[in-house]
Amino acid sequence: MTPNCYMCDEPGTTVEHVPPKCLFPEDKDLPSGIKLRNSLITVPACKTHNTRFCRDDEFLMYILVINLPANYTAFRQFRTKILRAVQRNPSLIKKLFANTHRVYVRSKPNGPLEPSLAYDIDEARFNAVLEKVARGIYYHHYNICWPGEIHVRPEFLVSIDQPNSIQTNILTQTITAASNMLFAGSPSYGANPSVFCYQVYDLPGKAPLMMRFRFYGEGCVTLIFNKRDLPTALIPPETASGPSN
Ligand SMILES: [Zn+2]
Repeated sequence: MTPNCYMCDEPGTTVEHVPPKCLFPEDKDLPSGIKLRNSLITVPACKTHNTRFCRDDEFLMYILVINLPANYTAFRQFRTKILRAVQRNPSLIKKLFANTHRVYVRSKPNGPLEPSLAYDIDEARFNAVLEKVARGIYYHHYNICWPGEIHVRPEFLVSIDQPNSIQTNILTQTITAASNMLFAGSPSYGANPSVFCYQVYDLPGKAPLMMRFRFYGEGCVTLIFNKRDLPTALIPPETASGPSN
């Protein structure tokens, strides 16, 4: 019997990688003997909900790789896969770096300010792609669809020059501090943690279920699965165990 799609009630006739496979460097781009495509997480998906059929997976990869807290694996992915894509399609660089801003950043709390570049992203699309990844990881972890909303909070985005930038950035810092405490010491899942791993924090009853994704080492995203609005019958069973497969 074909299992259902991780997003809807249609049969899951295709295989979706969560997160997308393109985030994980190919063997040819890695030193000999190093493999970062071990045991990738997959879920069943209908054609409509398989991101392989649109450009969202590449969009996600570009943003996560060109991200300040990203690790050396991301740098390697930039030097290989992304530069090849730019060579094939030079207009990509314009698309990637539309509306750049000169900014100064501190890489350590009391370190010097160093010049860098910030660029605008399509935040609604970015969050929508991350939400789909979250639904896929939920399906993988619990073997059922998540029936409610998911709030997506990337911890590395900074709001610049918006009327509410200060409040937005304070909220992001607060969520990061809370997640650092909440997830400290809880197990991480994912066979290639230098690219992606996730943690789960589930409280009983209608308290929210929380997840944290970690892309390329330090690119963290907090996900809040709000059980409050769900009918009691739809509240998923709690689990203290790991993923079901
Ligand atoms: Zn579907």
